[in-house]
Amino acid sequence: MTVRSYFLPRSLPEAIGLLETHGPELLVMAGGTVAMPLINDGISLPGAVMGLRRAGLDTLEVAGGTLRIGAAATLTQLLAQPAVPMLREAARNTASWSIRNMGTVGGNLFTPPPGGDVAVALLALDAGVTLAGPRGERVLPLADFFTGFLSNQLAADELLVEIQVPIRSDPTLFIKFGRKHANTPAVVTVAMRLEWDGNVVADARIALGAVGPHPIRAREAERLVVGTSLSADTIAVAAAAAAQGCEPFTDAIATEWYRRRMTGLFVSRALEQLAQGAEGEGR
Ligand SMILES: Cc1cc2nc3c(=O)[nH]c(=O)nc-3n(C[C@H](O)[C@H](O)[C@H](O)COP(=O)(O)OP(=O)(O)OC[C@H]3O[C@@H](n4cnc5c(N)ncnc54)[C@H](O)[C@@H]3O)c2cc1C
Repeated sequence: MTVRSYFLPRSLPEAIGLLETHGPELLVMAGGTVAMPLINDGISLPGAVMGLRRAGLDTLEVAGGTLRIGAAATLTQLLAQPAVPMLREAARNTASWSIRNMGTVGGNLFTPPPGGDVAVALLALDAGVTLAGPRGERVLPLADFFTGFLSNQLAADELLVEIQVPIRSDPTLFIKFGRKHANTPAVVTVAMRLEWDGNVVADARIALGAVGPHPIRAREAERLVVGTSLSADTIAVAAAAAAQGCEPFTDAIATEWYRRRMTGLFVSRALEQLAQGAEGEGR
């Protein structure tokens, strides 16, 4: 065990002060479901750890049409909120009860590939993130937060403090496909939100997990469905574009080839379901 100091700040300013003092040596730990196994296995060797449990970052509230999620709110808290159904569905499909009781929404954005499932839903929902550090706070779209494999916009002296999710009534769909029915890593995760204008798709978000270095948008597929009424042909072309445009990898769960195939299949299924829902709702 390498950890010599453990800090438990009681406020955000205290947490930021500790980061400023200790620099990159200080490992931030929220629920610890990702960070702790790495320490136990000797893969991560931090000299000091800062827990976020008491820093006041664990509230969920609805304000002005936005769901504001404290970065240290647990996945179980997310499961209990009524404002954004797709986030409940994403949390329900993430890990097991015991992990959801500890794991946080913020921590889900830092989860190594196959990556965070909740993060995929947040991407489809156009979530924003607030980062705070000694120079103050900055807000950016989640789509701009991820920069590459295990890399993001967070500076060494910053914390992720909040995630903002616009509350909309657009139809959404979340599908996680894994090798088991529950408590399983994703082969592919698909989160989708379509905005309709009558029978025509006015705007689309198609987010994918486990088929890239981080959760990604299938932007070409989005472009192909906007302005259409989701005919079978459109769905086939968009699903093929999503499969072609993703960057899957081979790991112990699935091969690159299989992940790409399943991406096409589940994007197609999700679009079909949303198209049927649209007909059913009389648009
Ligand atoms: C058995 C098991 C099954 C799992 N199954 C799934 C699954 O099905 N789907 C899924 O998505 N995930 C799964 N996970 C991964 C993990 O539990 C979740 O992604 C969880 O949301 C991580 O949150 P955490 O608070 O525990 O992160 P931590 O372990 O506390 O932190 C992870 C990383 O994020 C950084 N970090 C966390 N919060 C902040 C913050 N506010 N500011 C700056 N940096 C921060 C930490 O420094 C650390 O590097 C599983 C994990 C386990 C152990």
